[in-house]
Amino acid sequence: MAEEKKSLNFIEQIIEDDLKAGLDPTKLRFRFPPEPNGYLHIGHASSICLNFGLGQEYKAPVNLRFDDTNPAKEEQEYVDAIKEDIQWLGFKWAEELYSSDYFQQLFDWAILLIEKGKAYVDDQTSAQIAEQKGTPTQDGVNSPFRDRSVEENLALFKKMKNGDFEEGSHVLRAKISMTAKNMLMRDPIIYRVLKKSHHRTGNDWNIYPMYDWTHGESDYIEKVSHSICTLEFKHHRELYDWFLDQVYDKKDLRPKQREFARRNLSYTVMSKRKLLQLVEDGLVNGWDDPRMPTISGLRRRGYTPKSIRDFSETAGIAKRDNVTDIALLEFHIKNELNKTAPRVMAVLNPVKLVITNYPKNKEEILFAENNPEDENAGTREIPFSREIYIEREDFREQANKKFFRLKLDKEVRLKNAYIIKANSVVKDDNGEITEIHCTYDEDSKSGSGSEASKRKVKGTIHWVSIKHAVNAEVRLYDRLFTDEAPDSHKDKDFKEFINPDSLQIINNSFVEPSLKTAEIGDRFQFQRLGYFNVDLDSTSDGLVFNRIVPLRDSWAKMEHKK
Ligand code: ATP
Ligand code: MG
Repeated sequence: MAEEKKSLNFIEQIIEDDLKAGLDPTKLRFRFPPEPNGYLHIGHASSICLNFGLGQEYKAPVNLRFDDTNPAKEEQEYVDAIKEDIQWLGFKWAEELYSSDYFQQLFDWAILLIEKGKAYVDDQTSAQIAEQKGTPTQDGVNSPFRDRSVEENLALFKKMKNGDFEEGSHVLRAKISMTAKNMLMRDPIIYRVLKKSHHRTGNDWNIYPMYDWTHGESDYIEKVSHSICTLEFKHHRELYDWFLDQVYDKKDLRPKQREFARRNLSYTVMSKRKLLQLVEDGLVNGWDDPRMPTISGLRRRGYTPKSIRDFSETAGIAKRDNVTDIALLEFHIKNELNKTAPRVMAVLNPVKLVITNYPKNKEEILFAENNPEDENAGTREIPFSREIYIEREDFREQANKKFFRLKLDKEVRLKNAYIIKANSVVKDDNGEITEIHCTYDEDSKSGSGSEASKRKVKGTIHWVSIKHAVNAEVRLYDRLFTDEAPDSHKDKDFKEFINPDSLQIINNSFVEPSLKTAEIGDRFQFQRLGYFNVDLDSTSDGLVFNRIVPLRDSWAKMEHKK
């Protein structure tokens, strides 16, 4: 059967057109260029999947380039975390590179620019420079230092480099035009004085290159064929090309910047700067808090690399800004775990149930399928006894016909076990139910083949045997923000929309004994409840579970009620 060709996205289309126009396919090269100023988020994952995906598709190298030109914000911790996240997502870079490795080359090229009369040192403050910039409808004004001689510029620039000037006192600017339509072309700054220690070059440099100057030239040095970035850089493309023109040699490959829309996800924010604020203000428990949209947060929460790759693939890439529904991400993890996660029983909010006609000291072992979606998953043993826990919400003294769980005088099936009937309750002084007394139908054991086992009852509920149950802490997560687009409000800070109920910790949950041997990171379906994984806070005497995602979307229901 002929392989069906998937339709190309617009970036692939650009590459195909370049190949048709004669670009040597062995010259294709891509890069993923994070700034190590925070942890990667799900938006970066889209860029990673796009760039590394192109690498796989065209058998071309993809470099990891750290765009590390701002020592004030960059740290080794972030470099390490970024590498871990990309590898975890399942991708391998060809080379690990750093813009800071090109500081000398960039400096030499800046000298060249000065010598060509295309750059000058400006002694003005940033406020003065900004004032002269003009507006889109109004021309800018030339700096009084714009026509300095080459010699003077060279001498001043070297002084900047040697640390003879204070921060903010001098900058090197490209001499383009103060009347350009594109504001970014109005003599942009190429270098600034920054007396900060850099995580790789230490105190070697007193000046640091700006993003625009660095990025295109780094692409050129690395022979990147297609430099793919997000839409906000569209206006920068003209400058990218202008900078390239100054150093480009015709015999070389000329990198091309092309833009796609950033991934935005509903009910969260997606900028390292904002995520850093959440961490620093203690609104979350670190970058890998399971509520964070960071890759490390999603990993800890229990998301798989595949679910994130599948999400990025389905969400696709766009030419215009848009917001992707977080439900799509949840769909992909549910879809995967439905096929792969072993089923187990866990009772989050327990109430005691006594089966009064079950012998006091009897225990029996029941069998349950590990995963009905996977015939190779096998079965496991579950102990059953006279006293069990069920969910408090699964019982009501009285309820209407739509309540398919346990109620007085009615029957329900205990999953993988027997049919029981509720007869009476015991309450404490506050009227709260402390015990439910039931009787069971001895012949109704699941899978026994008896007539009674085939009897249809409306509801099935999960349970754990009290004597065998394992106590666990369960962390239930909800969306971190109550607003669909928390950072879209002009008059309000995004932090005002933090969901106060985004984390609920339940200490007295009980899980079936097969989970005693569960290891950190293992994922399960708690039947009827959702998918959970073992959090790294678990210890030998205490399991901690994270809810990855509920089976049904409670949020959608809540929204509906409003
Ligand atoms: P942030 O504001 O979150 O720090 P950034 O663009 O400054 O984002 P970088 O480290 O510079 O972060 O990004 C590395 C690469 O990932 C860039 O090519 C950038 O365009 C891309 N990227 C960043 N955020 C997104 C996003 N939300 N969707 C898609 N790609 C993104
Ligand atoms: Mg950035």
